[in-house]
Amino acid sequence: MATLRDDLKSLIGARSANPLAEKLGITTVGQLLRHYPRRYSDRGALTEIAGLEQGEHVTVMAQVVNANVRSMRNRRGSILEVTITDGSKQLRCAFFNRAKWHAERLRPGKTGLFAGKVSEYRRTLQLAHPEYELLDEMGASAVDEFVSEIIPVYPATEGMQSWVIARCVRQVLDLVEIEDDPMPPELLAAHGLASLDSALRMIHRPPDFDSLDVARRRLKWDEAMAIQLIFAERRKSAVSRPAPACPAVAGGLLDAFDARLPFTLTDGQREVGEDIAADIAQPHPMNRLLQGEVGSGKTVVALRAMLQVIDAGKQAAMLAPTEVLAAQHARSLRELLGDLGCAGELGAAEHATRVALLTGSMTAKQRKQALLDAASGAAGIIVGTHALIQDTVSFADLGLAVVDEQHRFGVEQRDALRSRGAEDSSPHVLVMTATPIPRTVAMTVYGDLEISALRELPAGRSPITTSVVPAAEKPAWLERAWQRIAEEVGKGHQAYMVCPRIGDEPPANNGEGRPAISVLDMAAELEHGPLSELRVGVLHGRLPADEKDALMRGFAAGKVDVLVATTVIEVGVNVPNATAMVIMDAERFGLSQLHQLRGRVGRGEVPGLCLLVTDALDGTVARERLAAVESTLDGFELSRKDLELRREGDILGAAQSGKRSGLKLLSLLRDEDMIADAREAALGIVADDPALGNHLGLAHLVTDLVDPDRAEFLEKS
Ligand code: ADP
Ligand code: MG
Repeated sequence: MATLRDDLKSLIGARSANPLAEKLGITTVGQLLRHYPRRYSDRGALTEIAGLEQGEHVTVMAQVVNANVRSMRNRRGSILEVTITDGSKQLRCAFFNRAKWHAERLRPGKTGLFAGKVSEYRRTLQLAHPEYELLDEMGASAVDEFVSEIIPVYPATEGMQSWVIARCVRQVLDLVEIEDDPMPPELLAAHGLASLDSALRMIHRPPDFDSLDVARRRLKWDEAMAIQLIFAERRKSAVSRPAPACPAVAGGLLDAFDARLPFTLTDGQREVGEDIAADIAQPHPMNRLLQGEVGSGKTVVALRAMLQVIDAGKQAAMLAPTEVLAAQHARSLRELLGDLGCAGELGAAEHATRVALLTGSMTAKQRKQALLDAASGAAGIIVGTHALIQDTVSFADLGLAVVDEQHRFGVEQRDALRSRGAEDSSPHVLVMTATPIPRTVAMTVYGDLEISALRELPAGRSPITTSVVPAAEKPAWLERAWQRIAEEVGKGHQAYMVCPRIGDEPPANNGEGRPAISVLDMAAELEHGPLSELRVGVLHGRLPADEKDALMRGFAAGKVDVLVATTVIEVGVNVPNATAMVIMDAERFGLSQLHQLRGRVGRGEVPGLCLLVTDALDGTVARERLAAVESTLDGFELSRKDLELRREGDILGAAQSGKRSGLKLLSLLRDEDMIADAREAALGIVADDPALGNHLGLAHLVTDLVDPDRAEFLEKS
């Protein structure tokens, strides 16, 4: 009995198997059967020619219009020119060898599959000496009993045509029966899924289009399970490690902090806070993702967790993606804590703690003190960049790590964190992100984390108005934009101006339009132009850290009217007096990035204003994206739109650490419910059988469908 892992060579012979291996890297039965058709042709239904692109290898169903042999002018021999059509558009095919023989077969009116690389010849598209297979010859070929009206078209390459693949698939399907379905029968029954054997048969040789849906549902399920099994295992192994239990202590720092909190927590902050409090009281590590809009109040939630940990005699670390942000976090934590945060200083409260800041740019002396405070336990909270975890920093007893801004903090870094607790224990981990992502993306990209969200903003938040400024079409609007900035400053407020690049690098001008507007050019222009009266500051990532820090502090203190910056201000920066933002070349930023950026304004009493300046023209996708940002302030809705406008491969790619993924059918957008079901099912299986020792088929599914490196845990079984 053949199985999915069997070698193709022994099954269909080297002559058929070798080309598959050489051209497509397919060597096993499973790899071939999971090489699904890209699309299907209704027998005789022609493929649209209009959409073909030059340079692509294509397989089209088309009909011969005419075929003419003519002799070549400057060479001996003859050439066959064949015109094929989809009924409206035509494609030229040229044959340079055996012209007469091909002409015999390619009679006008004949229909078949034609495959080759699309090129251009005298301003019409052509296939140079294509491979082809005619419909009425298919019966005579190896595809003999082809009864179906639906013809599969496979992802093919030069030298390995769709119909050759179809023949091999058919040969294999005739020889094997997949009896050992990896999916437990209860699961199949519970979710109404077809068996693997019938799903594979149907996807390759669908008797009708309805059965295709049935087949796809089952095969998608396999993909969803493969991912979720990995995450389920990761979660299980993370949770089974020891962690410092930090139960709440009555009358401690947390209680003192709560008692003086100048505002009431939102319902969301309270609920998430309770979940976290319960988690970190356990002797197993918390691994939680907290999503929340910019300004939703994540910092307070994190600080309360840190205080509970300090009350239990442990330390907390807070990691930020940049030094600017780390410094800012340290400052705002100290502010929030007041005299609860200045242990060792005059006027400190009883059982106060200390916040230590550790960055690469500190003086040796400052650094030494901070390291000492971390190692001795004098500092309850240590704030730094992500380098804190790779570094030689030693903690007296790290109980909790709070990671701000997840989208720059990957799986590997989370793993590195796990080893930083005392005596083999793992600290609790709270990851916070201001980029809301749809549920399925979260389950796929951060599947090993519990997920919480703050969906409401604290009361009293001012609204943000966003407007697109089409500078190319309406130059007067740009003038008006500068006026608006001047007006804001006139009212005593401040503004940000964001540009896509710094400007001290050679502009990457690869012939694709003008280079992006730069911070340095913009600042120079402002000084001599519309905002020459205003105090302009320049901030970007290549300034020395102390300069950045001084500048941010100056801006926060109101000493700068307009801060011209790169996206370094994207995250975390909090200056309530800044009420306006202009984003130049806005179409060059991602949607969530724009959303994140505009969250810097409207943080005070005054409504915020965000202007998206663009040269993109009305009707382009770029403008559609900007219109989406204009139309909603709901980050979750926006992230969904973003997903629709982006290619999904990018997201799955990120989940697979950039490696090519074996996921072919699953869609994060459309298969939300299935992914959730699979997550549930995977957790159930891994709970009883963590190493999948009793589910060898599932273990193989994971290694075969997902990157084998990421599935290394299964190899141990
Ligand atoms: P995030 O980190 O989620 O972007 P912050 O934690 O920085 O947001 O909070 C933004 C501002 O809102 C801070 O000034 C914070 O003190 C304030 N804030 C937080 N929670 C509340 C609340 N429940 N009510 C009023 N203001 C709040
Ligand atoms: Mg924040």
